[in-house]
This record gives sequence, structure tokens and C-alpha cells, in this order.
Amino acid sequence: MVKEMKFYDLLGVKPNCTNDELKKAYRKLALKYHPDKNPNEGDKFKLISQAYEVLSNPDKRKIYDEGGEQALKEGSSGGPGGFSSPMDIFDMFFGGGGGRGRRERKGKDVVHQMSVTLEELYNGSVRKLALQKNVVCDGCEGLGGKKGAVERCPNCRGSGMQVRIQQIGPGMVQQIQSVCGECQGQGERINAKDRCKICLGKKVVRERKVLEVHVDKGMVDGQKITFNGEGDQEPGLEPGDIIIVLDEKEHPVFKRSSDNLVMRMELTLVEALCGFRKSIRTLDERDLVISALPGQVFKQGDLKSILNEGMPHYRNPFEKGRLIIQFCVEFPRQLSQDVIPQLESLLPPRPEVIVSDQAEEAVLMDFNPENEARRQREQREAYYEDEDNPQGPRGVQCATQ
Ligand SMILES: [Zn+2]
Ligand SMILES: [Zn+2]
Repeated sequence: MVKEMKFYDLLGVKPNCTNDELKKAYRKLALKYHPDKNPNEGDKFKLISQAYEVLSNPDKRKIYDEGGEQALKEGSSGGPGGFSSPMDIFDMFFGGGGGRGRRERKGKDVVHQMSVTLEELYNGSVRKLALQKNVVCDGCEGLGGKKGAVERCPNCRGSGMQVRIQQIGPGMVQQIQSVCGECQGQGERINAKDRCKICLGKKVVRERKVLEVHVDKGMVDGQKITFNGEGDQEPGLEPGDIIIVLDEKEHPVFKRSSDNLVMRMELTLVEALCGFRKSIRTLDERDLVISALPGQVFKQGDLKSILNEGMPHYRNPFEKGRLIIQFCVEFPRQLSQDVIPQLESLLPPRPEVIVSDQAEEAVLMDFNPENEARRQREQREAYYEDEDNPQGPRGVQCATQ
């Protein structure tokens, strides 16, 4: 039992989730709520990052599970609340940014998520992805206007920032730095009449770009495909990269487990006992036929595998994992009275059981573990509430001992 659910709920995972499930949940949400994609949900992006930062660190996760958010605050030595910047976590996770030193001369990397089916990852596919990006304006070659029309902003003297001094009390002043209102932080300005007619002085224009994304056989969920230098262009900067992150869709039949595929197969009781012949449609649309050997019995939960029918290996697609089949036997819900003697005559006899004369007849009830857990919890809470009350259940319990 964990003390608080908040961080788990933020990422939409269960408290017993694996590290992979956690990563996948963060990846999906971080890309959805990144300020570039969803500028109105700034806070959500921060909260997701904080939840991921805690839950992905085994030590922090343990503290949180036991003591909740309060325990983390008390134990942290880092900055306010002890959290890293959401952007740093994002860059670390997606490998973007390309290191601090490089960032100065290189534009931002842009990360997009692309949903792919298991069929595409098995067979490989080429997908066309249309997106909008900034390119340096042809009309002014990225100057924003005629040559020589660009002048330094007199308001901020080219720094793009404005410093205001504000009196906050007797003898106390505060410096407030903000983006220059005159040039919107550009540090320069262009007279309206000299402005480039194509980009309206913005130096860049939006352009539609179609990328051909090659999804290779055996690629995995979360794998990145990088398009070097295809990010937004900015004058004087080397453009960043476009990074496509693959997001594997759930498949109705197969579940991937490293290079294996896992599927369930339902068997009726007659199939489980007397044999069967069934077919499986593969991800490349072949049909495989499987059958039970004569006399072979399949039990609930039995596992069998077929070699070389799992996922192809990335960059070595002729190597494949296994297809693992988990059998589920559907027992009949009830038997009609007249079938029972016939079945008895066919099946091995029941073992003999000796029942003493004093034995009591007991009734079998249905049992639901979830309901039972709830009942236990309620009982425990009632017990603690009455701890200081000698008339409560505790006193009664002691008296009967
Ligand atoms: Zn300015
Ligand atoms: Zn222009």
C-alpha cells in the first residue's frame, strides 16, 4: 500500500507499475503537454515531470510511497521542493538539446510522437509525416528587411531585456527584468516601411514539410528516428533536429515481450481433452496451423512456443524471437444432470474420502479477494479509531481472551 496516489495518478499508472510502464506513460504525456505543443497547459507539464522524477528514482519513490509528498519535502536538500527543471528532465529523457555548449549555436530539437502498429514494426513501413516548420525567409535572406534597415533597439540597447527598478519599501528597491517591449526581445528593430513584405520582419516563414519516416523491421516502442538539421531554422543558428519517437499501439491479439510475441488461445473443454486443430493469423498475414498430439491434454495456463514466429530483430530481421501461446481452458458453467453419469463412467474413479460422524456440513460461498481486502481495511480503520476508547472493540476483544 502506498500513502499517496497523486504522482501515480498524474502519470496514469498503478503503484505496482514497472519502470518500462513508467517511462512509456511519461513519454506520452510529456510529448502531449510540452509547452511547444500545448502552451496553455504549462503547469501540467511541470507536474508530470515532477511525478516522473520521483517515481523513476528508486530512493525517492520509496520515500514517497511510505510518507507521501511531505516526506519528500522534508528529506530533500535541493532547491525549492527538490525538483529539477521540467525541461532538463525532458531533454535528458529524449536526448535532445545536444549538450549545453552546443545549444548556443544550435536551434532547438523538436520531438514528435508517431503511433505505429505492431504490424508496421514487424513488416517495416514508410510513413509520410507532414509538419510545419520555420525556414529562413528567402525574400530578405533572414535579415527581416532591406540591408542596412536593421538598427539596434534604442530602448534596450540591443540586449532585448529591460530592467525596471521598483520601490518595495522604505529604502528597499527591487530590480525587475523583463523582455523589452519595444523590440519583443529581439534587440533590434526595422522601420515599418523597410520591413520584408514576405516575412513581415520575422526573418522566418512557416513552411509545410513532408518527412518520409522509415520504420524498420524490429524497431521498438520508444525508439527514436532522428532527422538531422530538419528542426526550425533561425538566422545565424544551425537548425536543430526533428526527432520522431515511435509509440507502439496495442494489438488485439499479440503482446510484445522483447523479441517474443505472446498470445492467449482459448480452448473449450473438449479441445483441451480430446485435441484440436487451430490456425493463427501472423502479423504478415500468413496462417499457421497448430494441433494437439493425440492423447495430449492441455491445462489452464499451459505455455507452448513456436520458434521463429516472434518479432524480427532490428537490423537483422531474418533472426526472429518466439511466438508464445498461453492456453486458457473454458470450462462449462454447469452440467446437465443426465450428462454426469456418462462422464463418470468415462473418467477415472473419484478417490475415496472418509468423513467422520461428527463432521459438520459447511456451505461454500463465492469469494472475491477485492471485497475481502476492502472489508479488512474497514475493520482495521474502525479498530484504530477506537484505540483510546476502553469501551471500543479492543476492550471487548481482550475480555473474551
Ligand atoms: Zn529592445
Ligand atoms: Zn523576409
